[in-house]
Amino acid sequence: MCGIFGITDNKNAARLSYVGLFTLQHRGQESAGIATDDHGRLVSHNGMGLVNEVFTNDTLERLEGRNAIGHVRYSTTGSSHIKNAQPLALTSCLGEVAVAHNGNITNADRLKAGLQKSGAIFQSSSDSEVILHLAARYRGRTLEDTLAKNLPKLSGAYAFLFMTPGKVIGARDPYGYRPLVLGKLGRSYILASETCAIEVAGGTIVREIEPGEMVVISGGKLRSKRFAPAKKRTRCVFEQVYFARPDSVAVGRSVQTARYEIGAMLARELKDVKADLVSGVPDSGTVYALGYAKESGIPYQTAFMRNHYTGRSFIQPDQKLREFTAHLKLAPIRDVIKGRTVILIDDSLVRGTTSRKIVKNLKRCGAKKVIMAIASPPIVSPCYFGIDTPTKGELIANQLSLEKIRRFIGADALHYLSLPSLIEACGDHNDRDFCVSCFTGKYNACAGAASKGYAHQAAMEAL
Ligand code: AMP
Repeated sequence: MCGIFGITDNKNAARLSYVGLFTLQHRGQESAGIATDDHGRLVSHNGMGLVNEVFTNDTLERLEGRNAIGHVRYSTTGSSHIKNAQPLALTSCLGEVAVAHNGNITNADRLKAGLQKSGAIFQSSSDSEVILHLAARYRGRTLEDTLAKNLPKLSGAYAFLFMTPGKVIGARDPYGYRPLVLGKLGRSYILASETCAIEVAGGTIVREIEPGEMVVISGGKLRSKRFAPAKKRTRCVFEQVYFARPDSVAVGRSVQTARYEIGAMLARELKDVKADLVSGVPDSGTVYALGYAKESGIPYQTAFMRNHYTGRSFIQPDQKLREFTAHLKLAPIRDVIKGRTVILIDDSLVRGTTSRKIVKNLKRCGAKKVIMAIASPPIVSPCYFGIDTPTKGELIANQLSLEKIRRFIGADALHYLSLPSLIEACGDHNDRDFCVSCFTGKYNACAGAASKGYAHQAAMEAL
């Protein structure tokens, strides 16, 4: 996952990009960067860390120019290193060009090997650079022609922002895995991963960029161009489940509303379960629990205090650290829990680390029973399209039966939301085309290449 934000024709382009990226911080916390078009010369500032650690007043001041693109990174391919921080900017026969990417290009290894054989020198190890090398070789009359020629060579998931002097281009893959939204602020256009970034930057939402569509913004005007026919849409349902901010509209639906509805669906699926209170694992679990409480009539209570300063347990390099961070992150509120039967809701169960830890904590605080309800189906397969999931072997639902998972996390009961309920809650009536491959293990055509790529990576890491 990553977040991207771009703005055109605005004297505060860098500052508004800062606001946009700050709002998208939940999508990536490893690195951040902004590139601007300073009178026809691209300048950029990238760094490791959070948006407010990477930028100071001075750095923003130096990023002059009326067009800008920016990026927050959460690596799924390529290591966590400054050389992979984006926007990537380079100079080639195309002139100066910068790119910001959210997604995962599943045939990047193969394309990269071919390009390297014919002399290409890559400056990063991320998959995003491939498109710039392809574009430098197979050129058209304009940058948009060049991209239209080369984007169809990429498989997998991408929402791209490109910037050259005088021009910003946004493009979304033909399946629409990753989100990209268009907004307006006065005369300025905004392109962003999520609607919340457009609104916090003061803009209004215009529409989603269509799968297979490219928008070219230059001279204050926006043109739309199709570079590929839209395929059967397979937008990532995990955006709704976990990644997107609740104040965003993702895949056509308010994230908050979809999560509230999922909570109600869970309550319907568990209609015979009795409990004293329902609670959510903060932050994402809270709204599910509120939906559950409304539907079931079981009162909602805050059972945990979340410490917001711990960083992310999920991406810690080893299990012990993940458990320690999870321990620091969530502290149970004893008075609420003692002697009670608690229905506890989390968005997902991946390795089982979080649930195991919090169930143990609830029991230690005297909970009578803990019923764990997960707001999505079991994750049985890795994501090859831009979400950071561990290997199949680390996915608990791939390894253990429901009963064994229940025992592993120490709950008195465990329930996962069914896939039909998830899809029903996330889409509206005529729009239910999602990628659910992490729940089914069924990928569309381009995933074969992905699995091979990942196997190579895993094998390489073992040497
Ligand atoms: P685990 O503790 O491994 O079972 O992971 C599940 C927890 O991590 C849930 O509380 C989710 O909110 C969170 N989570 C799920 N998927 C991701 C992801 N791709 N990146 C970061 N956090 C995640």
